[in-house]
Amino acid sequence: MCTAIYPGSFDPPTLGHLDIIRRCSAIHDKVVVCVMRNGAKGGSLFSCAERAELLSTITADLPNVQVDTYGGLLADYARRYPDPVIVRGLRAVTDFEYEFQMANVNRKLAPEIETIFMIARDKYTFLSSSVVRELGRYRGDLGEFVPPAVEQALRIKLGARKFEDE
Ligand code: ADP
Repeated sequence: MCTAIYPGSFDPPTLGHLDIIRRCSAIHDKVVVCVMRNGAKGGSLFSCAERAELLSTITADLPNVQVDTYGGLLADYARRYPDPVIVRGLRAVTDFEYEFQMANVNRKLAPEIETIFMIARDKYTFLSSSVVRELGRYRGDLGEFVPPAVEQALRIKLGARKFEDE
């Protein structure tokens, strides 16, 4: 049974992430979305537990998707599963260099595990968690970028007042 491991920061999960998860769940027996606790991206808006909870909420209709968190090396985590493949999304060439490097590092650590890439849907190529965090500070309507549960969590986290400032 092939298990797709989709790791990331997901701070917060966006419709772009959800699109990758859906497409992945359609072609793999099982998908594990893993919030990595050791991201090198500095301060986070949502805690790991909050991000995992949001991911569980927005994937509740996908029975072969489960959500986890992990603080170690991805290669070690992936080895816990039968026939794992690592899945990453690619939005633009700008993602390529980083993803290329990570895939090669993971191949060194776990030569038996492939990393596969899914190309972002056109309408989500510009979308990132950092864009959502930034927009969330100034705008009310994030419906085009994140699922409703995430929008609500952002409102609570950032404070409803800030959405009305513009
Ligand atoms: P990381 O910090 O590991 O890059 P992210 O949460 O930013 O974590 O992204 C997780 C994965 O999802 C990465 O492979 C990233 O390229 C991909 N991704 C992010 N946003 C999108 C999007 N809008 N469409 C498709 N893939 C995306």
